[in-house]
Amino acid sequence: MQIIPLPAFRDNYIWLLRHGTTATVVDPGDAAPVLRYLADEGLSLSAILITHHHSDHVGGIEALLASHPAPVYGPARESIPAITRPVGDGEVVSVPGADFQVIDVPGHTAGHVAYYAAPMLFCGDTLFAAGCGRIFEGTPAQLYASLERLAGLPGDTQVYCTHEYTLSNLAFAAAVEPANSAVTERIARCQALRADERPTVPFQLDGERHSNPFLRTREADVVRQAEAQAGRSLNGPEEVFAALREWKNRF
Ligand SMILES: [Zn+2]
Repeated sequence: MQIIPLPAFRDNYIWLLRHGTTATVVDPGDAAPVLRYLADEGLSLSAILITHHHSDHVGGIEALLASHPAPVYGPARESIPAITRPVGDGEVVSVPGADFQVIDVPGHTAGHVAYYAAPMLFCGDTLFAAGCGRIFEGTPAQLYASLERLAGLPGDTQVYCTHEYTLSNLAFAAAVEPANSAVTERIARCQALRADERPTVPFQLDGERHSNPFLRTREADVVRQAEAQAGRSLNGPEEVFAALREWKNRF
């Protein structure tokens, strides 16, 4: 199986899983790059996987189905008209080349799901490289629990998130922990990739605990900075997480 990033909009990636002459796409917000790739490579579409209802993740479904009928898997707890196979936590989604386990990861949106088939994780707008999604519908406690759940997957997990936000996330990480050398090193690595116009994703999960501030809410430096920003003392990692997320929104 080959996994291809199809850039879309300003900074989205539509992931295309190529297996033989078939393709599965994840979060096709725009049909055009997918249709072009399928035509150029002579592939048929076997399935569409959707993580959540935002238009930059679902906007291309109708146009794709018009010429490539395929089942559309997506979160049962969100209202997405094009979904034909609603799925939720613990269910298995089988596509050519992989059997994905569905993981509920609410927080960015209320019904957000992720798809995991070792070592691949497609997690939409939940966990980003060195960051996490905004909280639009859920609560900080929900997103915190979702991130911790994803962070508990095996260290060799390859995380395919849907945005190229890494450098701006790392700028925030450096503001939270100016003395964290893992952050400094990661910035250098990712700047080199971007200078070559290469994606910084996927990324391997086991490095994330070292440079993603949202997974470092128990670190003394992180707690201290979050408290300084919040202007009060914070009670436990969930409150630190909420304060960090709040700070990042206006960073
Ligand atoms: Zn989103």
